[in-house]
Amino acid sequence: MYQNQQNLYNFKLNGANLIIHHKPEFNTQYTSIELPFGGLSKYLLLDEKIINIEPGSAHLLEHSVLDTEDNNFFSYFMRKGARCNGYTHLASTVFSFEMVKLDLIVLQEFLYHIIEGEVNNETLTKQKEIILSEINSRNPFPPIIKHGLKKILQNEYNYFTVIGESNDVENLDKINLVLLKKYIYSFNHLDLITFGPKDPNEIIDWFKNIMKLNSDKSQGKIKWDLNNNNETSGLVVCDKTDLTLLMIFKEKIINNVQMIKKQTIMRTFMELCIEGFIKINGNKLEAHMDYFNNLGISIFMTKASSEKEFIYIKSLISKSESGVTNNLNNDTLDLIKTKIISNLLAQYDYPDRISTQLHWLSRYNYSLDDYILMVQNVTTEEVNEHIEYLFSHIDNNLAY
Ligand SMILES: [Zn+2]
Repeated sequence: MYQNQQNLYNFKLNGANLIIHHKPEFNTQYTSIELPFGGLSKYLLLDEKIINIEPGSAHLLEHSVLDTEDNNFFSYFMRKGARCNGYTHLASTVFSFEMVKLDLIVLQEFLYHIIEGEVNNETLTKQKEIILSEINSRNPFPPIIKHGLKKILQNEYNYFTVIGESNDVENLDKINLVLLKKYIYSFNHLDLITFGPKDPNEIIDWFKNIMKLNSDKSQGKIKWDLNNNNETSGLVVCDKTDLTLLMIFKEKIINNVQMIKKQTIMRTFMELCIEGFIKINGNKLEAHMDYFNNLGISIFMTKASSEKEFIYIKSLISKSESGVTNNLNNDTLDLIKTKIISNLLAQYDYPDRISTQLHWLSRYNYSLDDYILMVQNVTTEEVNEHIEYLFSHIDNNLAY
């Protein structure tokens, strides 16, 4: 259970961020290392120079970092008692490391491998092949979502897939990737979050020492906002043959940190409202919704069970402003708040795959308490206003 930050330690050192959540009752120590390089990273700013980043770069680098010439990376750490992995998200790359009775020497070896390990031509070529077969064997999105995303994102779509499309990956320039590795994978960019029983003071000393030894290493600046097409927009996509409906919203990208937090909270509310709205209005409607909640993109998908339902939902969506927000009263809002907060707290209790949300909060130097307070203070008027704002941007002409 979350205890008002009593067991939460947060340090910033030379741009790096360390968060310790002391959990004496755990056996395993869960650690994740985040770097600000994800699918949507488009530019690296280096002094005065701007280096373009091709779609799929962050993902290929993540694969390559976890590969060694002898194919032995995971089993090497497994023999030392640590289980590790890597994931590429839209705004970041995360490497995870789990160990019963954390040995900081082993974690340090892992960390140094991530940051300083060199990627070479052979590894990049090998991992390119692996990713190409990943792309060919499964599409990152079902066709209807792909269609909607391509319409709303246009040429940014390939970045949004994180993995890239086949020809993006084929054309990735190895020299550029080595350069990106060198400047982005830096100690100064680290965001390290760890949960578990290890004595926080030991971890803090260990971290301070590492940062002291590496404080002079060069670093690049990452800019990952989507500059083109920076407008709020929304569209409805319908597939009559399998009775699927999709709503996609893309919000204007903002740089003000306070606004970003606010926007994310509002979107979370909106998602839960719309989810409830279809269920409430439709009575027997079994509407299933999926959504992504990243950097301004929200996707709502629902499958009707009959043509009648399909038409009904479609009409609800298109006269939008009138329908959605009417359902939001204070009781519903309280329910939604409870849901959001308990989801947040659960991440602190089951950190086996430490969520990007925690990294996201720490990157903005924000505590969970502050965030929860912000969620608690949201009013029905604010949510209604935000939903209406988004729905007013729906372009009903873009049907599938
Ligand atoms: Zn992969």
